[in-house]
Amino acid sequence: MAQESNHTNEPQANIGVVGLAAMGASLARNLAHHGNTVAVFNRSHARTETLMREHGDEGAFVPADTLEEFVASLTRPRTAIIMVKAGAPTDAMIDALADLMEPGDIIVDAGNAYYEDTIRREKAIRARGLHFVGCGVSGGEEGALKGPSMMPGGTEESWKTLGPIFRQIAAQAEGEPCVTHIGTDGAGHFVKMVHNGIEYSDMQLISESYDLLRRGLGMSADELADVFAAWNEGDLNSYLIEITADILRHKDAKTGKPFVDVVVDRAGMKGTGTWTVQTALSLGVPVTGIGEAVFARGLSSQAGLRAEARDKALAGPEPAAVLAPIAADPQARAAFVEDVRQALYASKIVAYAQGFNEIEQAAAEHGWDIDLGAVAKIWRGGCIIRARFLNRIADAYAGGTKPGSLLFDPFFKAAVEGAQDSWRRVVARAAQAGVPVPVFASSLAYYDGLRSRRLPAALIQAQRDYFGAHTYGRVDEPGVFHTLWAEEGREEIKQS
Ligand code: NDP
Repeated sequence: MAQESNHTNEPQANIGVVGLAAMGASLARNLAHHGNTVAVFNRSHARTETLMREHGDEGAFVPADTLEEFVASLTRPRTAIIMVKAGAPTDAMIDALADLMEPGDIIVDAGNAYYEDTIRREKAIRARGLHFVGCGVSGGEEGALKGPSMMPGGTEESWKTLGPIFRQIAAQAEGEPCVTHIGTDGAGHFVKMVHNGIEYSDMQLISESYDLLRRGLGMSADELADVFAAWNEGDLNSYLIEITADILRHKDAKTGKPFVDVVVDRAGMKGTGTWTVQTALSLGVPVTGIGEAVFARGLSSQAGLRAEARDKALAGPEPAAVLAPIAADPQARAAFVEDVRQALYASKIVAYAQGFNEIEQAAAEHGWDIDLGAVAKIWRGGCIIRARFLNRIADAYAGGTKPGSLLFDPFFKAAVEGAQDSWRRVVARAAQAGVPVPVFASSLAYYDGLRSRRLPAALIQAQRDYFGAHTYGRVDEPGVFHTLWAEEGREEIKQS
């Protein structure tokens, strides 16, 4: 069905993809598999040729040699999906397309973009009479080919054109497509960013569980593969738990050792976790679990400092020695494994509660009408954090209900209450044994902070007033107060 390069300038493709590296080529093939006629263009023509040679018979493609030819081959409203390198290349491609397109046409940026950039780009493109849609796409290359989770922003009008197409190509979860119109301008990329932040948290929590059981209880990688496989049958069922079991079972071909033991313990990152935390800081929303997960990767990558710490032999307990009595008693051992499972579950609920709070806060700030239940639903398939438990989050936000925090929803409230004894034991034992569990611990601290009737913030505010005259409120009287903290004759002044 592949067609010759579109030298006739006859419009025939209902959608086009610009950028045919891993993601773009997969997305173009996915679109073609669903009956779309797909115009394809890449800066260096070799990629277009490779796509046509290797997959041209999978559907209707219209390869273009030039961007002009590409645009001319699209039917109206012309719809072009950009999948090029994030940053300046994306800006350059948006500009080049906008110069060739006409009012009413739609430019979709399906690459990774910081939502503020998407807001800026949308504004500029809207001023030219075109639609600009920033669309978060999760699931990597395989997801792009077989069905990603898609988070489009942009106008309602552009969604009328894109909706039917995106619903075809998105992942399906329980019969529903994993795509919804998230909100205007940067809303889609914002939600994708928070998705990635939650992913950081989830991965760190799984790794903390692994570390405690491996170093603390001395369990083998194979035993742990069984533990994670068993956890995957219950409340924790998710893609990340499933692949963890698979990774832990995998043996290195060269050495025969568990694969995880030959991988350098340095976790990389591309920036979306950092964006999630930076944005949360500026919104004033605590996303402590995500923050600790980002910092944990940062610490892992401080190779020089870690080597120096080893040289200096920073003292601390030996995890296996501290937890030896538990490891030696089969009943205590099984109970501890269950405690870790519960701690993981409770901490994971906190990670989602914090992530959804960040989305809610940003929505209020930017005037986005985001359906949080729909967000939970579209994360059930195609993306990295896909998990059974997202159904429960969708229920918590069903019908536009806003529980304030997921932790207030009756299901999650009961789940955390049921898990909290285990959670506390795990955090305490990890501290005693010297195993770092920053996300378990910070999530528990967040939970306790949230439920505390009085916080020591009272003392902080008093300190602020003492050294900086920053004023305070009183519990027994409305108004703003300042105390004159001179040693003699301290006096309180009501300022308003
Ligand atoms: P890359 O991010 O590696 O980008 C390569 C593509 O960008 C090639 O088609 C390349 O063209 C094109 N390109 C680079 N610079 C320019 C330029 N100045 N002008 C025009 N085209 C340019 O490709 P991926 O497929 O990995 O990712 C595409 C987008 O999707 C990125 O924004 C990425 O962040 C995002 N993304 C990636 C995921 C992944 O798992 N890889 C997951 C989700 C999103 P050429 O062949 O001529 O060099």
